[in-house]
Amino acid sequence: MAMSPPSPERRIFGNRTLNLRSIRAIGYDMDYTLIHYRVDEWEASAFRHTRDRLAARGWPVGDLTFDPDSVIRGLTIDLEHGNLVKPTRFGYVIRAAHGTEFLEFDRLRTTYHGVTVDLAEPRWVFLNTLFSLSEAAMYAGLVDRFDAGSIPEVHSYAELYDVVRSTLDEAHMEGQLKEEILADPKRFVIADPEMPLALLDQRHAGKRIVLITNSEWEYTDRMMRYAFDRHLGGQNWRDLFDAVIVSAAKPEFFTARRPFYRVVDEGLGLMRPHAGPLSPASVYVGGSAVQLEDHLGVSGDEILYVGDHLYSDVSVSKALLRWRTALVLRELESEISATEEFRPQEQRLESLMERKAGIEQEIAMARLARQRAQGGYARSDLTIAEADGVIEALRTTLAALDDEITPLAIESGRLRNRVWGPLMRSGNDKSLFARQVERYADVYTSRASNFLAATPYAYLRADRGSLPHDR
Ligand code: IMP
Ligand code: MG
Repeated sequence: MAMSPPSPERRIFGNRTLNLRSIRAIGYDMDYTLIHYRVDEWEASAFRHTRDRLAARGWPVGDLTFDPDSVIRGLTIDLEHGNLVKPTRFGYVIRAAHGTEFLEFDRLRTTYHGVTVDLAEPRWVFLNTLFSLSEAAMYAGLVDRFDAGSIPEVHSYAELYDVVRSTLDEAHMEGQLKEEILADPKRFVIADPEMPLALLDQRHAGKRIVLITNSEWEYTDRMMRYAFDRHLGGQNWRDLFDAVIVSAAKPEFFTARRPFYRVVDEGLGLMRPHAGPLSPASVYVGGSAVQLEDHLGVSGDEILYVGDHLYSDVSVSKALLRWRTALVLRELESEISATEEFRPQEQRLESLMERKAGIEQEIAMARLARQRAQGGYARSDLTIAEADGVIEALRTTLAALDDEITPLAIESGRLRNRVWGPLMRSGNDKSLFARQVERYADVYTSRASNFLAATPYAYLRADRGSLPHDR
């Protein structure tokens, strides 16, 4: 059987080498990992439910609508200023919007001069997952209204955020939003027929497969049935898993030691506290990663966890338990194809930048020659007048070059998203999001089903990475 190599967008990218043969258990997150949603539909629904709750509270939100392109994952909310910002890997802010209005250069510079985004501080809220998009879009819309004085109930941008957070939380937890999804899954789910076979291959390769989702049982069961059962030729999605853990309350699942409950009546959702091994025939609620390790009898570096939430799935499981981690990042597909498409212009931009650097160096040398001629402390090849002439001519060349560079640089900064640009880059640097990915995700890929082409026997090598002096 010849399997063609995956297209660049569907590859698995390595930050640290991962040998799948030494992995004995694989844990999967469900939402946006095993099941991918149409972000514009799902987040628009979450947005509407949140908006209706705020409207019921008397807030002036009736005409707010969700624009899925107005925010991207990996941005950071600045609670001090009510801004949405895009930081570099060093935490420098290179782009910011106050509410829905972008800051022009001078205001950006005065606001963020000397500021570095440090996610450990409560001032910053990182958009970890695609579920964060409705939250950020709602917050931005409300900042505009708060500034206009039409939300007297709160007194700061931070308080405003708390209300958005808790209201969205309620929308997720309380039944209506989920009922809307369950009533019409076709509208919300982007099917991936390769996913069940990827898991079957792993299972038959001897790996224990575990589902660990924050979703509650009824939602999990109905969504998994919808997404998996028809691709399993008579089998049931439950047959794929050695253990099913729902309402896992990640990140606490990884950080705390909480009891498992066993669902004793799946129809009614009745539960009993559970001790001892986990049976594939039952469904478990809550629990903790430490107890799961005990049950599986494997150590952290033998477990791979695959999830889409940079903090709850990948960062804590890596930092606390040293699990191997795979981040699912659907946006990579459009990011990579946009980058590929732009490649000719990018190469043109690079060569123009090289010429620019050369001319800048010539100007610097002419300035120095002028200084020496004037100071008389060292020999100079040029007279002051000659140096002035050279500088003038080079400046004209530079200006012409800049006219060519500017539009290309602007285009490059707008790839994938017209307003925020690429996910993984901030200006000329890596983005803070990219930094979080390399820190916590051993590998990252656009879909969990990309493991199908990789096979359960793959040796996923870390990229060598690059350093400024490499070229
Ligand atoms: P998982 O990705 O499979 O762990 O499941 C994510 C679950 O968390 C889904 O049921 C979401 O509805 C839910 N969820 C996502 N964001 C929020 C939130 O802000 N508050 C409460 N639940 C959320
Ligand atoms: Mg998820």
